[in-house]
Amino acid sequence: MNKYDIDPDKNGFFGEYGGQIIPPELKPIFDEINDFYSQMKNDKSFQDELSYLLKHYVGRPSPIYYAQKLSEKYGGAQIYFKREDLNHTGAHKINHTLGEALIAKRMGKKKLLAETGAGQHGVALATAAAVVGLPCEIHMGEIDIAKQAPNVTRMKILGAKVVPVKMGTRSLKDAVDSAFNEFVKDPANTFFGIGSVVGPHPFPMMVRDFQRIVGIEARQQFKELVGKNPDNLVACVGGGSNAIGLFSAFLEDEGIDIYGVEPSGRGLDLGEHAATLTLGKPGNIHGMHTYLLQDDKGEAQPVYSIASGLDYPGVGPQHSFLKDIKRIKYELINDEECLAAFMELSKLEGIIPALESAHAVAFAIKLATKLPKDKTILVNLSGRGDKDIDFVVEKIGKI
Ligand SMILES: *Cc1c(COP(=O)(O)O)cnc(C)c1O
Repeated sequence: MNKYDIDPDKNGFFGEYGGQIIPPELKPIFDEINDFYSQMKNDKSFQDELSYLLKHYVGRPSPIYYAQKLSEKYGGAQIYFKREDLNHTGAHKINHTLGEALIAKRMGKKKLLAETGAGQHGVALATAAAVVGLPCEIHMGEIDIAKQAPNVTRMKILGAKVVPVKMGTRSLKDAVDSAFNEFVKDPANTFFGIGSVVGPHPFPMMVRDFQRIVGIEARQQFKELVGKNPDNLVACVGGGSNAIGLFSAFLEDEGIDIYGVEPSGRGLDLGEHAATLTLGKPGNIHGMHTYLLQDDKGEAQPVYSIASGLDYPGVGPQHSFLKDIKRIKYELINDEECLAAFMELSKLEGIIPALESAHAVAFAIKLATKLPKDKTILVNLSGRGDKDIDFVVEKIGKI
């Protein structure tokens, strides 16, 4: 039996984490998605349709690239990148939004719905909705709409309806509530396209399965290129989807050290970081039991990261499980280290990483310096940084 690469039990639990913490009237909706998804897992026409889109639309397989200059500069282990930044739309998220959109379509749902913070998930879902042919509605806080104009425009060009959220803090937290209120109006006809390996069962499992392609490809490609498995894996963790996508193919190989990288932001005080697994404790959020940055009453607390895709107070329940059983180590990288790695990879290798991915790059560099030259590190480069260039220049003042 597999010890690490597990599916949740029939109630959606990875160990004590996950589940379906939702109003009883919504349980049949999520159970129906679970039943339908279980069929599709073994349905040839579904898998063929998804594979076709991943190959001809997303551009998979994404390559593995050996960063020779970066490796030589730091003088230690050899660093490789799985290039999810080269996917259509520029990040790994398209792998699971396409899967979700196809499930929604085959279930006969009438609309894809989601919230978005900085707009990355909104754009990925709007893209999948366009190609699969379903209407799409994205809820977004007014403050985020003002800050992220290009992504708002992108979503609209892709045909999505962007709903401005005026309540509360007018940012992600309220956008979640607003989208959820829209969902419960007509849950039978609406598919809530969750943006990571989070939410009620079956989403943590289903989104992971759609991201597994990253690890499956990487395992084969790395063997072809290097002749063996990588010694270390590194990926950034927001909700945890790009990380688990890569890691799941290697969990059973106990000799491989696996690192998830969380943002320690501006410091370790509550509100200054989004280091959920490192500094949080188990609680409930968004329909699941998982590590959570919370106050004494169990309420989720405000979080911060320079990378908007990482600022989530919870985390995927499978990561909570893998932390407790010590199969994965979770490490911290702060804003400053992230920015330095962003510039370093750009100048040395000509690859501008997303600020989210730059957390993984920063940790890989640190790790490489401590290891001998014959060791290897495979990093999931989850996305490209075009979206971040103006912000970075503003932050560091000069280039
Ligand atoms: C959204 C995003 C992340 C964080 O999401 P995970 O579910 O933790 O993978 C990381 N990198 C990029 C480029 C993103 O857009």
